[in-house]
Amino acid sequence: MMRVTRVTTAVLEANYDWTLVRVETDEGVTGLGEAFFGPGLTGVIRDVAELVIGSDPRDVEPLTRKMRLATAHAGAAGGLVHHAITGIESALWDLHARALEVPLYRAFGGAFRTRIRVYADCHAGDALESYSSVLQSRRPGWAPPDPMDGVVEEHWDPVEREGVYTTDAYAARARQMAGAGFTALKFDIDLPRLPGEDLYARTISHAQLERQVELASAACDAVPGVDVAFDCHWRYAAPDALRLARALEAVPVFWLEDPLPPENVESLAGLCRATSTPVATGENQYLVHGFEALLRAGAVDIVAPDFQKVGGLAEARRIADRADSHYLPVAPHNISGPVGTMASAHLCAVIPNFLALEWHAASVPFFEDLVVSGGPVIGEGHVQLGTAPGIGIELDLDVSRKYARRGELFFGEDLGA
Ligand code: MG
Repeated sequence: MMRVTRVTTAVLEANYDWTLVRVETDEGVTGLGEAFFGPGLTGVIRDVAELVIGSDPRDVEPLTRKMRLATAHAGAAGGLVHHAITGIESALWDLHARALEVPLYRAFGGAFRTRIRVYADCHAGDALESYSSVLQSRRPGWAPPDPMDGVVEEHWDPVEREGVYTTDAYAARARQMAGAGFTALKFDIDLPRLPGEDLYARTISHAQLERQVELASAACDAVPGVDVAFDCHWRYAAPDALRLARALEAVPVFWLEDPLPPENVESLAGLCRATSTPVATGENQYLVHGFEALLRAGAVDIVAPDFQKVGGLAEARRIADRADSHYLPVAPHNISGPVGTMASAHLCAVIPNFLALEWHAASVPFFEDLVVSGGPVIGEGHVQLGTAPGIGIELDLDVSRKYARRGELFFGEDLGA
């Protein structure tokens, strides 16, 4: 029997905190996973990981159930414990496939496709965004100086700045990313808030609505033949979201993402019924149960779970199965680094109803450098899965250490303050 001897974490300070989990065994085989960020996450991972020490890491499903049972008091239906469980579970799957010397998609029953379509998140057309675990803007050490230096903005309410959030910026960025080979893109369409719009009342002014349609049209027109989606980050009141969705019916949008806050399934269902604009949601949901509620109510057209968050890769597969039984496509949300992106790509290979996988790190200059070379992780707008075992990549530890967050252990190593 193989045994887990040690579980450690590392946090890479990118546009978000890419939180990695490494599982080590007494037989020398290791596994690597990534967990969706959140405040205090590495402490939660450390506590939850005690549950798998000494067990056979290949018992992935029983160990995952054990972790869920042991943390139900801290978030049975959703929340940070599931980010931690997902990171550990994902590392166990990688380890399991490496022990079998097969790619992860093989361990999951085989690939419908090995070339995985990726859509590039283009934010608001500008270059870099980087946020803390509670979504305050930050400037990481590796980033170029910020013209807005010293201005701290909230992720959900950015300060207006010149040349950003314009139709020209959106069109230029769309052309740039399409030129890089991406056949699908996504832009924010909810930024910035205009005078007279109340953040907490979730209103859309007439000027904003006009602007949103212009931005969406500019981005779509700039890249004919490329699918372009637009994200609203759960921002709007139900009647306002409906005005926006209906106004966008004249524009060939790939989807409109999270126009409403995520908690009220009935409101989302009402919106989906009232518009022909495809509505995507799911990045704030957990487990099969969260998605089943959406599916049963008809509250989603394009299902967008985050595979580093939902409760594990196997749970992600079950969620995709449920979506498939409703004949709905899955377009996974993904803001992770190469580790989470590759784990997600393998899952995208094994589900029939796959649409496109997000990539949110176009503005992170060292994304590809983190991986020991063997071809790019993302090339020509796709992840090409090969025959290497597990998730199919090896982390470059020297490069990763350079971007490691100070104050966090780097796979057990103290990097100092
Ligand atoms: Mg989103």
